Amino acid sequence: MQRYLDGIRAEHAGVADGELAQYIPELASVDPSGFGLSLSSADGFIYESGDASVEFTIQSISKPLTYALALERIGVAAVDAKIGVEPSGEAFNEISVDHITKTPKNPMINAGAIAAVSLVPGASPDERFALIRDFYSAIVGHRLELDVDVYASEKAAGSRNRAIGYMLQSLGVLADDPDDVLDVYFRQCALRVTSTDLAKIGATLARGGVNPQTGRRVLSAAVVRRTLSVMVTCGMYDAAGDWVSAVGMPAKSGVGGGIVAVLPGQLGIGVYSPRLDDKGNSVRGVLLCRSLSEQLGLHFLTVARDSRSTLRAVHEPSRGIRVYETHGDLLFSGAEQVLRVADRDRDDFEVAILDVSRVDDIDDAARALLSGMSSALRSAGKVGYLVDPDGIVIRSEPDLQAVCFHTVDAAVDEARSWLDRNRRVSPH
Ligand code: GLN
Repeated sequence: MQRYLDGIRAEHAGVADGELAQYIPELASVDPSGFGLSLSSADGFIYESGDASVEFTIQSISKPLTYALALERIGVAAVDAKIGVEPSGEAFNEISVDHITKTPKNPMINAGAIAAVSLVPGASPDERFALIRDFYSAIVGHRLELDVDVYASEKAAGSRNRAIGYMLQSLGVLADDPDDVLDVYFRQCALRVTSTDLAKIGATLARGGVNPQTGRRVLSAAVVRRTLSVMVTCGMYDAAGDWVSAVGMPAKSGVGGGIVAVLPGQLGIGVYSPRLDDKGNSVRGVLLCRSLSEQLGLHFLTVARDSRSTLRAVHEPSRGIRVYETHGDLLFSGAEQVLRVADRDRDDFEVAILDVSRVDDIDDAARALLSGMSSALRSAGKVGYLVDPDGIVIRSEPDLQAVCFHTVDAAVDEARSWLDRNRRVSPH
């Protein structure tokens, strides 16, 4: 893996296209050759290649984080009242709002990000910034430092963002003084990170809000889902469509040269290379993510395993008894398939035994479907038993206790005596 990452980074190292961000004077003076790649697995193992410990400012990669913080603190309805979730198709610093709602189109462009800052609770700019910094630091797993030079530089040259702030105030989107809100926004953008920090942010989102290294839950699963959704549609600004087609991972870029990409359930990627394309995305960062996605099959719409893999085996220990062994993650489509197969077979058995002892995870939809299986069988004059030693199904379905067993053998024994008693078929 290390050799592979070093190799793929080296393949793109020669690309010198793109320009440093010029509109923040301090950013124009960074070393343009910096190139770091970090990858965190969902269980928190970190790979690093190249300049993975070089610090740069987080810039717009702060946007999904502050949006998530606002969602966590004031709830989705209050946030939705002020910020939309539609891709804008415009540049990140466009001075615009949605024509109808008169609110920013989404939280990934500056207008929406500035509005998101104003939704974070805090009696003063310092208090608000402290909350934001502590939150980012908890996601990354260590305290993030402010780059005071970049902060001062952007603040001095921030007319465009001020224009956005005042426009939002005039429309009633910002309740607070725009300069106070912008001050916090400039500070959050000037927090220093490494590509490894970005990989950790990515992995935390990939894990549904749990930092895999600290084990700490820093975000709720529902907030992560919303945040990743807007990253998919708006994270790469007006290049979002290209990005989703070619790379296929929720992502966010910043004009500091960073990109974070998330493969839900699997990994987080952080890249740093400060030369930007005309949309403000890192040139080498985009190319590298594209190659990683193609070569490692990371596109999130890759249709991987078909749901047949849910049914591990079907066997018949005695005539009239069928055992359906399931494994892996049991979600709606897998459970539906188990039921369909059992239904198709139902003339061939009297007792169906559903073995979920090898299932890693199950969701509510699958649980509901499977727990209905036993009553459906009963109404067809048959019997359904469940082998559920860890209680993953019966935990929420105590009615099934009577038909639940710890082992397949115990269920088969019970099935045989049921058949004896009912004498519909004679056992071997
Ligand atoms: N601080 C930058 C700005 O407001 C962030 C923009 C970006 O990273 N795309 O212009």
